[in-house]
Amino acid sequence: MKRTAMLLAILTSMVLVALACWPRSILLVNAHILTLDDKDSVADALLMQGRYIKAVGRQERLSRDLPLFTTVVDMEGKTMLPGFVDAHSHFPSAGLAQAGLDLTPPPVGNTGTMTQLLEAITLEAETYPEGQWIVGFNYDNASLPVQRHPTRHELDKAAPGHPVYLWHRSGHMGVANTRALHLLGFHDSSVNERAELTVSVVNHEPDRDMQGRLTGLLQESAAPRLSFLLRQLPYRSLFDTVLSARDQYLHNGITTVQNGFADKPSMLMLRWLQRLNVLPQRIVVWPAYDKMASQITLPLTTSPPASPSKALADAIGWQGRSQRFSLSALKLVVDGSPQGRTAWLSEPYLTDASLPVGFRGVPSMPEVIFKKLVLRYHSAGFQLAMHANGDAAIDLVIASLTAAHRQTPRADSRHLIVHAQTIRQDQLEALARLGASATFFPAHTYYWGDWYRTRVLGDARASRISPLAQADLAQLRYSIHSDAPVTPVSPMSMLWSATQRLTLEEHVLGPSLVIDRMRALRAMTIDAAWQNYLEQDRGSLEVGKLADIIALTGDPLTEPDVRDLQVQRVWIGGKEAFRR
Ligand SMILES: [Zn+2]
Repeated sequence: MKRTAMLLAILTSMVLVALACWPRSILLVNAHILTLDDKDSVADALLMQGRYIKAVGRQERLSRDLPLFTTVVDMEGKTMLPGFVDAHSHFPSAGLAQAGLDLTPPPVGNTGTMTQLLEAITLEAETYPEGQWIVGFNYDNASLPVQRHPTRHELDKAAPGHPVYLWHRSGHMGVANTRALHLLGFHDSSVNERAELTVSVVNHEPDRDMQGRLTGLLQESAAPRLSFLLRQLPYRSLFDTVLSARDQYLHNGITTVQNGFADKPSMLMLRWLQRLNVLPQRIVVWPAYDKMASQITLPLTTSPPASPSKALADAIGWQGRSQRFSLSALKLVVDGSPQGRTAWLSEPYLTDASLPVGFRGVPSMPEVIFKKLVLRYHSAGFQLAMHANGDAAIDLVIASLTAAHRQTPRADSRHLIVHAQTIRQDQLEALARLGASATFFPAHTYYWGDWYRTRVLGDARASRISPLAQADLAQLRYSIHSDAPVTPVSPMSMLWSATQRLTLEEHVLGPSLVIDRMRALRAMTIDAAWQNYLEQDRGSLEVGKLADIIALTGDPLTEPDVRDLQVQRVWIGGKEAFRR
């Protein structure tokens, strides 16, 4: 009797273990599934088993021969898509507004005027003891009616007892008050070093007036690093930043997030947060050359690496690549931003009192050095993601890639240009010939289109920014991105901008350059996956790929204003990660 009971107990536990290990199967039925496969097929049912998609197609077919214990979920006609793949942003910086003072202008935030901005700083200063840093995020001179940066003296007056630093929405600059300038090691001088604008002055020196006094504006590498600013804030702020970013991406259906300018500490932090299940999303990182140059060690042997990702991981001593955490390109920066007029153009910026006549921006590093880096890292088998906004910067990228391919021919190198805002038709064609690609930033037409037309580029050049339709004509593969925190985490707003090209003041910038909605969806899913060598396991809903799936409240191909759509459910690797 005793023996029978024991056998029964063993048998029961074996059955329980087998059941626990049995891959969970979920059949989604009555759905409108845009698979984004090669044929843009539409299906009405999808079967997930464990982490993967087991079948997709017609409901009648899939309902036959279901695996044991399949849960059937009626999607009530909802449109479903592959989870969005973040082609380029700076996860978790979208949560920065949680870390400090949020100065985002309308229509996203509430800081619409200089008076409101300065009052917000005064209020913030009153809540902190004297000496504590006040850090404001996401102000934008182009969105303020006065169309200028606050000055160091205005910030002194707003918070006389505190060091103050305001981080510009572009991520390329900011303004500091006198206390902050001194703590950062900058002091007034008797000469205006900016009188002659060279690479090193624009990119590494603080802005000064004609008498050599600091104005407070710090651009590019003269600006303090984000990691430095976060260290000045209460410890809890960093965690709040991550949680806020996690939710913003998840609630917008982004199942693969990116940190496109990473250093090692942030890579480690993201991987640990993922392991602790704080972050359910998959992560892609682009290590930043600027932050990691000294940690890149190339092997002495010349045997071809297994993959660009492996070559880069080995060179920086990184272990643990997986479907949840991947490394793709090394990020290089060629120039600045058009909104800050630090992008490197072939023709001058519009004339402005604050710029010398004929100013056309400067490269972020001397051309010879950039060419050498491209040659070296292309030969080492890396993939390169090169931030280039101005067409002169893009010329340098094309010349460097041409020389690199001539010296070391490589098929499928997938180097890419990041932003490419003022790219010309001949450059689109040249990149296509080199097997390179681009990731565009279409929301610029909305947020800065008017600023570009009137103050930065003039009508003709402003109308040609982010020329997605021309890229299709040139057969250049591309993705689209938010660059969050520069613009909000919102694939539907990106899709809207790419298909409308409307500015805040309702001008249509270059109406012939719009693309259709299906093209835009592909640029946020399969093309973004391809750009990171991830198209084998994500980016479309096909058998064998990861079950990263989202359901929307309506159909993005027919909804009158796609910005009204919301993400209702999100599955990552077959597990439900969000439900509205
Ligand atoms: Zn970026």
